[in-house]
Amino acid sequence: MTKPNEMTIVEAARALRAREISVRELWDACAAVAAKRNPELNAYLELFPADEAAISTAQKRIDSEGNAAPMLCGIPLAMKDNILIEGKIASAASKMLENYRATYDATVVTKLKDAGALFLGRTNMDEFAMGSSTEHSAFGKTLNPIDTARVPGGSSGGSAAAVAAHLCVAALGTDTGGSIRQPAALCGLVGLKPTYGAVSRSGLIAMGSSLDQAGPLAKCVDDARIIFETIRGRDPLDSTTLSDDLYPARDVSEKVRIGIPRHLLTQGVDADLLVTFDAMLKKIEAEGHSVVDIELPTSSYALAAYYIVMPAEVSTNLARLDGMRYGYSVRGETLLEDYVRARTEGFGAETRRRILLGTFVLSSGYIDAYYHKAEAARAVLRKEYDKAFENVDVIAFPTTPSPAFKFGEKTDDPVAMYLEDVFTITANLTGMPALSVPMGQVKREGKQLPVGIHFTAPHQAENVLFSIGKAVEGSE
Ligand code: GLN
Repeated sequence: MTKPNEMTIVEAARALRAREISVRELWDACAAVAAKRNPELNAYLELFPADEAAISTAQKRIDSEGNAAPMLCGIPLAMKDNILIEGKIASAASKMLENYRATYDATVVTKLKDAGALFLGRTNMDEFAMGSSTEHSAFGKTLNPIDTARVPGGSSGGSAAAVAAHLCVAALGTDTGGSIRQPAALCGLVGLKPTYGAVSRSGLIAMGSSLDQAGPLAKCVDDARIIFETIRGRDPLDSTTLSDDLYPARDVSEKVRIGIPRHLLTQGVDADLLVTFDAMLKKIEAEGHSVVDIELPTSSYALAAYYIVMPAEVSTNLARLDGMRYGYSVRGETLLEDYVRARTEGFGAETRRRILLGTFVLSSGYIDAYYHKAEAARAVLRKEYDKAFENVDVIAFPTTPSPAFKFGEKTDDPVAMYLEDVFTITANLTGMPALSVPMGQVKREGKQLPVGIHFTAPHQAENVLFSIGKAVEGSE
């Protein structure tokens, strides 16, 4: 039998119902491996003690409801450190919020608790979700369990490492420009960024409010779907959430038409990664799905637009963290010094860089030249994607240009780090759902490293993503 902590949600739910394992045994298996391996990997910033009441309630529910109990009942999950769990610290991996204890549950947490899920701990991340390697955490780096000399990706790198090393069954991350999908790809997992508004943002520590979504990092497509279905839905606490009945049911048995923007793949993508990508397309085609070339000319401006819109929103969202209203507090000689010291000492270098950039692009005199232009580019991008979706069901490219990179490789060159996001950010700018699924491995220095294939679908077409994701899974 697979070790309990190595099971998928689907496998664990079945084993729990068949009484092959108990909720307690599943929790203990995850907690024991987490306690053993976390000192090395630093996937978790904190491991929570067992919640005996929640464990026994989940067991009773499975005993009495059997198959009618939610799939997540009794399943131990890891939570990114920017998602509020009442009574627990949520620091967003920042010194600024090191001691901040949440006073309420994020809506996603409420929904997971209602389904009977358990929480193993909070996971490491780039500070305030800014980064692609988890190296920007104020609390040390997280190692990629597949090759510990390499980054797990970011910003949800702790969640990805925790799932990949089986220190939990699945995890939640957040994605503003790729932070679920890119670490999923680099750790060999499935990652979903839902349609903007599909999942409530209430109780997430905001990065870019028009871009952020929470979503699953999981061992398989079915697990990602189960978590998505549990956490999604209209929420009175987040006015940007979509109405439940707007959500169209898609026929997932249909063959999928896949659009490939070849012109975007010519530069910067590792040659062997492209070979793996084409081989995967061939396999999916052999199953009856069709592949066509498409053009997305404005996509080449997406990265630039993102690195204007996102810092603008970051600078606004983080303004409240001033050591007076919220966060790390120090006193200087004057009021101004209080603010300057709190924000200089409380925030790391990357966070300060983005606040400065955001303040600049929003300042009078520059707002038209930068912020409004980027917003305009965003509108064009969305139109271009809508148009492409008249002829195809999904758009595919590799999730990242390369496999996991080594520690320190990109920390001195912010633009090199930003280029990690070149394929993932458009889904956030357009609000469309996107899924990364493992598509194979490429070899670096004698090690096989996982790489992912990325699909974008029209708004609210997550079902199509799950369908094509399963086709990839079946042919890997
Ligand atoms: N890597 C991207 C960035 O640094 C995306 C971050 C995210 O999705 N939270 O902004």
